[in-house]
Amino acid sequence: MEDRVDDRTTELAVANANLRREVAERERIELALRENVARLQAILTSTVNGVITIDERGLIESFNPAAEQLFGFSANEVIGRNVTMLMPPPFADEHDGYLAAYQSTGVRRLIGIGREVLGKRKDGSTFPIELIVSEVALGARKIYSSIVLDITRRKAAEDSLQARTFELAEANRDLTHRTAETEMFVYSVSHDLRSPLVNLQGFSKELGKACDSLATLLSDERLPGDIRQTARTLLAGKMTKSLGFIQAGVLRLSNIIDALLRLSRAGRVEYRPQRVDVARTVARIVASLQGTIAEKRVDVRIGELPAVIGDATALEQVFANLIGNALNYLDPSRPAVIEVGTSSGEIAGFVTYFVRDNGLGIPAAHFQKIFQVFQRVHTGVGPGEGIGLAIVARVVERHRGKVWVESAVGEGSTFFVRLPRGI
Ligand code: ADP
Repeated sequence: MEDRVDDRTTELAVANANLRREVAERERIELALRENVARLQAILTSTVNGVITIDERGLIESFNPAAEQLFGFSANEVIGRNVTMLMPPPFADEHDGYLAAYQSTGVRRLIGIGREVLGKRKDGSTFPIELIVSEVALGARKIYSSIVLDITRRKAAEDSLQARTFELAEANRDLTHRTAETEMFVYSVSHDLRSPLVNLQGFSKELGKACDSLATLLSDERLPGDIRQTARTLLAGKMTKSLGFIQAGVLRLSNIIDALLRLSRAGRVEYRPQRVDVARTVARIVASLQGTIAEKRVDVRIGELPAVIGDATALEQVFANLIGNALNYLDPSRPAVIEVGTSSGEIAGFVTYFVRDNGLGIPAAHFQKIFQVFQRVHTGVGPGEGIGLAIVARVVERHRGKVWVESAVGEGSTFFVRLPRGI
């Protein structure tokens, strides 16, 4: 009998201990839960983003302080009301549609994505927001929680960037238009100057012939000696000299007009992009200049020249001008070396060619100017119209590339041409 009582007592003691453990465990869980809830509450309260939860019918269940700030409503004013009160049309109508569609089809169009919409404040004003919606299952019930980010500043930045891009595109179009107009103007003026120039050429030739006939006439013994003498002096002196000046002037003008026509053509001709074997192009140019190269005893060194996509004729013009200039502006006081190659450290997608000489060099103040029309540095060195580099610049620009020079007076110049591998 006593034994049984003892057993029972032990059983009860064990059950008691178990119960106490369970209670302690439950208290621990409850504390942890309460802590978690408090933590969540603290996060919701302190977060700078609005957090709104709604039920399946779209009625607001919670509205954190950041949401109150954003929308200008207090939580009390919105809880239990349809969330569409925070949206201007057409978002408000769409929202009801989404919810209804989701209810009947299960298609979640709003869940998980950051969507840019407009929010409506208590005072009726609207502002851009980004919504990130998630679905939360609470037992058999579902609620939707939305994080609301005010993107007014981001939008303003995007808008001003867009406006700036638009402005730049406009300016670019304007510039292209004006360049085309200038080129057309240069073309028509040069073209119009051609015919009077041809007349001048023809008539000065006629004048030359007339002078020859006059010289023959003046050998007629029947003319008085003093008149013959004076006429001969006039003919051989002033007249011949003047005729010479006229012809030289006409030739120079004709060269300028030709160069201007070439320049306007460089901007106007339609490009036919194709693979251009630059190595072969350069070899052809060097071969055509062989006479000058031999005469000036130039050591021409050609490195690796990869192909690019571009207009074959235009690119040939570029290299012909640069190599031609390298030959024109050599320094006779030292053995001439001209190198053509590609420079290392290239930018991906581009090839940078160079044409280097050890000639006269160019003062730094002229590095930019020489690419403009009629800008010459070494006027006394040789003939030239000061248009070659302007043509180079225009062609390179049309290939969306870049041309520049590095040079030191008395040491030489290196012209760089960077071209995209494809245009
Ligand atoms: P042009 O050679 O007909 O004068 P360009 O437009 O080709 O016209 O060149 C403009 C000027 O730039 C030249 O007059 C010359 O003074 C200078 N220049 C061009 N290339 C070189 C070079 N390789 N070395 C020194 N000066 C150069």
